[in-house]
Amino acid sequence: MKILEERIKQDGVVLPGNVLKVNQFLNHQIDPDLMLDIGKEFVNLFGKEKITKILTIESSGIAPAMMTGLLLHVPVLFGRKKKSSTMPGDVYCAHVYSYTKKIENTVTIESKFLNKNDRVLIIDDFLANGEAVSGMLEICQQAHAQVVGVGIAIEKSFQGGAKRIKDQGVHLESLAKIASFDNGQVQFVEESK
Ligand code: 5GP
Repeated sequence: MKILEERIKQDGVVLPGNVLKVNQFLNHQIDPDLMLDIGKEFVNLFGKEKITKILTIESSGIAPAMMTGLLLHVPVLFGRKKKSSTMPGDVYCAHVYSYTKKIENTVTIESKFLNKNDRVLIIDDFLANGEAVSGMLEICQQAHAQVVGVGIAIEKSFQGGAKRIKDQGVHLESLAKIASFDNGQVQFVEESK
């Protein structure tokens, strides 16, 4: 997705540890027009799948997930990293190691929001080692919900997540694919071919 790649080039900052900081438009300040374009692209890619629900994890997955849900007129469900006191006992959960925070979170979903009749599109901001997406796949399995695909805004293709997800037979689409951060510069997969 050209405009996302251009925005990454313009505003992205490569940090140590292969972390891309995109606080200008996605991870802190959010550009709603760009999020809407991302949502439209996910609808182009997955819109025919009779999706009933979008699933993401708080907090940075919510913006692209929300726009996709708005365009498809389906609810957006986000996994909570801390169990809320208003949550009853009946929950699905998965342990997710956070790439950026280096801690393990227990991601929780109230079970009444996900069931065997759901056709789920999983959305997240980044794909690195695939921990977050694997956690969401696990939650869908617990709910016996069908996953129709995974939509990622920014995939770091040089890390193992994409292979890990595709090897499970899951339809994965990423809008910007990063091949490397060599010399602190973002190199996209298409550019390096
Ligand atoms: P994974 O679970 O695939 O290893 O990592 C994906 C999750 O970690 C995403 O939900 C995202 O929040 C965070 N993450 C991974 N890599 C990056 C990165 O380079 N930049 C930012 N901002 N977040 C990342």
